[in-house]
Amino acid sequence: MNDQASSTVTLHKNLIGGRDVPASDGAVLDVLSPADGQLFARIPSGTAEDIDAAVKAARAAFEGAWSKLTATERGRLLIKLAAAVEADADHLAALESRDNGKPLRQSRADVTALARYFEYYGTAADKLHGEVIPYLNTHFIGVERVPHGVTGHIIPWNYPMQIFGRSVGAALAGGNATVVKPAEDASLTILRIGALAREVGFPDGALNIVTGLGRTAGAALTAHPGIDFISFTGSPETGTMVQTAAAKNHVGVTLELGGKSAQVVFDDADLERALPSLVNAIIQNGGQTCSAGSRLLIQRGIFKDVVDAVAERFRTLRAGHPEREPDLGPMVNQAQQRRVEKYLERAKNEGLTVAAAGGIASDAPSGGYYVAPTFFAPVAHESVLSQEEVFGPVLVATPFDDEAEAIRLANGTAYGLAAGVWTRDAMRSTRVGRAMRVGQVFVNCYGAGGGVELPFGGFGRSGHGREKGFEGLVEFTTTRTLVIAHG
Ligand code: NDP
Repeated sequence: MNDQASSTVTLHKNLIGGRDVPASDGAVLDVLSPADGQLFARIPSGTAEDIDAAVKAARAAFEGAWSKLTATERGRLLIKLAAAVEADADHLAALESRDNGKPLRQSRADVTALARYFEYYGTAADKLHGEVIPYLNTHFIGVERVPHGVTGHIIPWNYPMQIFGRSVGAALAGGNATVVKPAEDASLTILRIGALAREVGFPDGALNIVTGLGRTAGAALTAHPGIDFISFTGSPETGTMVQTAAAKNHVGVTLELGGKSAQVVFDDADLERALPSLVNAIIQNGGQTCSAGSRLLIQRGIFKDVVDAVAERFRTLRAGHPEREPDLGPMVNQAQQRRVEKYLERAKNEGLTVAAAGGIASDAPSGGYYVAPTFFAPVAHESVLSQEEVFGPVLVATPFDDEAEAIRLANGTAYGLAAGVWTRDAMRSTRVGRAMRVGQVFVNCYGAGGGVELPFGGFGRSGHGREKGFEGLVEFTTTRTLVIAHG
């Protein structure tokens, strides 16, 4: 175990070159539980020196033991890691709920997805291959798929395990050695995965984890000249800094920067089927989900009926302690709670109509970062609440008249991550689905199945590059073309 219990506050260490180490200067960060604001753990506040040591350890692994493994052997290690995660599922889920505040059922779902990512990429590792290109009859041309080298991974706090699985899992399967900087608010499960990886036999340095602040450890990682490729998930503002740092070192990035995803409800939709999804898509993880369905676009003839039905469900929703299986947990930290509350205040000051609000459970501990879910309707498409990502349990509804207007509104923000379309008309579902400028479109469902196998990523302000699915594995490799003259 990486954590040493000291009364009730656990002290954790970084994983660098296969060893558990404190920050180079011994500094630590307090970890507070979002449920009650109480201190329960400490993590290293990683320094630029720690990042440098981690990058060097990764480079040594990349040029040494890690690169000596075949793709099949790398895959087997990932499959073993999947089994270790499953065996540790209860511990990981409890740790995540404590650290991040998400309800236990969501943490369990994240563990399942994490194991599935390792299984998926473990079994895919030796299925990724290059090609032979016809050229001159006197030449043989082979195009090989090769790893980037040392990859840097900045993981956010909203789905730490899932985002680790999709990005680090794919990078390792592709043969890269990795350096990971988890979010300061959700590092504990990532450190635990590191310990499990060591237990199942990953060579030292293939996976390094340095916790700490984004502006120090994170910035040092993305600016490090020893990093060959960067995967970032987080805000557009930090994404710009990451891409700027990458540009200075001339390395590639995948950026997944959130969204303002619309669910389009046509008047022929199966509303019984749609309603639970319309609500859950914004409540899941307290709305702190990049692909949250945060905008409802509803055809005018059924606008009132759908708003009333969603409002009825919203009134029953309660934010509460993550271990008591509430509808939603607290926000991850006080800053996020205040950020969401500011959006709510602004909307109310602008005169937006609250169609319904849920509440905070009466037994929710004081000191926790709870926000009552709130549903505004009708909301103009141009309003701030329709255009900006709130990253909280805040839903808006806007009416539309016809298909053309629905498409215009759905595509009418700076983002482009996901969309939902609800209709019984098969031709329309395909037409509208294919008109969405987003990375994933769901028809008569939303975010179904977690999407381990499905390529995921954005357009515009939602970022670029694709993770998840086989596409994610391809993204963490590049090509080398071998030209052999033989006559
Ligand atoms: P950030 O984008 O700042 O944080 C995301 C990750 O980047 C964290 O690991 C963070 O570390 C790290 N980071 C922060 N600054 C730097 C830097 N200069 N260089 C490298 N890495 C850095 O988001 P916030 O946590 O501040 O959340 C603000 C908003 O961002 C949210 O309200 C939401 O809208 C959006 N967001 C979107 C996510 C998504 O899934 N697309 C995920 C998280 C946030 P640390 O946390 O330690 O500072």
